[in-house]
Amino acid sequence: KIQVKDLHKSYGSNDVLKGINLDVKNNEVVCMIGPSGSGKSTFLRCINKLEEPNSGHIYVDGYDIADPQVNINKIRENIGMVFQHFNLFPNMNVLENITLAPVQLGKMTKAEAQEAAMHYLDLVGLQDKATANPVKLSGGQKQRVAIARALAMKPDVMLFDEPTSALDPEMVGDVLGVMKRLAQEGMTMIVVTHEMGFAKQVADRVVFFHNGDIREQGTPEEIFDHPQHPDTKNFLDKVL
Ligand code: ATP
Ligand code: MG
Repeated sequence: KIQVKDLHKSYGSNDVLKGINLDVKNNEVVCMIGPSGSGKSTFLRCINKLEEPNSGHIYVDGYDIADPQVNINKIRENIGMVFQHFNLFPNMNVLENITLAPVQLGKMTKAEAQEAAMHYLDLVGLQDKATANPVKLSGGQKQRVAIARALAMKPDVMLFDEPTSALDPEMVGDVLGVMKRLAQEGMTMIVVTHEMGFAKQVADRVVFFHNGDIREQGTPEEIFDHPQHPDTKNFLDKVL
């Protein structure tokens, strides 16, 4: 599904990604953990070409996204992305936020998009907020709308970049609950998170980023209960 080979990215003299190799299989949930500045967000942003790598390859469903022949917009339609800040459109209601992209991109008729939107609003527990203005929602509700909006494109893969780190603590559980449900339904997911409990419970594989490299990866048990690398141990000592 997603194959990353020897990915390098630098900003000026700052080598942020130093040769990342990672394969994510269909239906796999990969949680990425690691210190601030280790390159996790940059890595996610490379996957849908929000950043241009310096070298290396990223294959999405077999297509090399660096290949100029490949239509990156088509690839992006199949990759849902949810950020720390929800970026909902404030001048539209919740339903309009969710139906905009699938209709504009010709993926669905308006009626189909509305039906899909209600389905995903139900999934995130917000069917009663369809006509609400996003400005009036809580942070956790906004983030769940953002997830529904990404899902309405029927992506093959969902990328999450610290989706709960801007939320008040009492909102975090609802959003993690939605993500857990998605994982159980077989969604392929890459999740950058500081929520170690979530990673432990939901991840098929935990990837520890350090200084632009994958230092160590394994099952949650391997990483959390038996970390091998001193950098991993050091990081976990600080966060657990
Ligand atoms: P955090 O946990 O704080 O979100 P991160 O692991 O996601 O950290 P990145 O945001 O990927 O880290 O940043 C990695 C490095 O790249 C940092 O040193 C950062 O300053 C640098 N960086 C990120 N984006 C840019 C940019 N657009 N221009 C220049 N440098 C950048
Ligand atoms: Mg980040």
